[in-house]
Amino acid sequence: MKYIGAHTSSAGGVENAVAEAVRIGADALALFTRNQKAWVSKPLAQKNIEAFKQALADAKIAPEHVLPHDSYLINLGNPTEEGLAKSRAAFLNELQRAEQLGLSLVNFHPGAHLNQLSEEACLDLIAESINGALDKTTTAVAVIENTAGQGSNLGFAFPQIARIIAGVTDKSRVAVCIDTCHTFAAGYDLSTEAGYEATFDAFEREVGFRYLRAIHLNDSKKGCGSRVDRHESLGLGMIGEEFFHRFMNDARFDDMPIILETPDEARWPEEIAWLRSLAR
Ligand SMILES: [Zn+2]
Ligand SMILES: [Zn+2]
Repeated sequence: MKYIGAHTSSAGGVENAVAEAVRIGADALALFTRNQKAWVSKPLAQKNIEAFKQALADAKIAPEHVLPHDSYLINLGNPTEEGLAKSRAAFLNELQRAEQLGLSLVNFHPGAHLNQLSEEACLDLIAESINGALDKTTTAVAVIENTAGQGSNLGFAFPQIARIIAGVTDKSRVAVCIDTCHTFAAGYDLSTEAGYEATFDAFEREVGFRYLRAIHLNDSKKGCGSRVDRHESLGLGMIGEEFFHRFMNDARFDDMPIILETPDEARWPEEIAWLRSLAR
């Protein structure tokens, strides 16, 4: 079965993200558990933690279908000592907050070398950063999101993701989130049947579906291989409608959060309903 939701707003309290998910007809969701544009956030209040857990239970949304997204400031491959230390502390805080909320998955963008490190050295630094955070937590799973490859961001090619995973000691606590817009922008052509098959064959060969625990489902404003990260509403971009038919009937994407990060939030209820209508 497919579990579909969107990245909803936690303004005013994390429990509000669940309420919005319910309103749009979702049975999965993504959220920020802290201010995504600040290095330090105040701790989660007990009353918000309890309200969040209660809201999930009331909505019958399983914790494994909730995908917190980390702060955009964090760069676990930051070549500068200060930037790396701040990133590692903030990432640890993200994992701790997820654990407080009874969640395991934490979605993050792997990191960027800022033209000061080789690609390999940066990937290995990211793996070390993950190991440090996993050592200090108990159940959280670090979910690596593939990127569009904008600027010096790594994780746009599947072998880069494989190299990070190879460097993580506890393989049971590292996973992958495929963002379909990023995949397409990175040069994997999801718009055709042959491209779809080739992309996911490559993913299986180079990373492995056993690591796949989440999806960001977005169309793309920019072309295949553009390396530009611009999300579009489903079916209105350059990936196109056909992809979503194939995706919704592909059991490899069952039983994991499928999260819309499409730009027009008013369309989320119809996008979710449309996706469900595609499943044969
Ligand atoms: Zn994404
Ligand atoms: Zn994106």
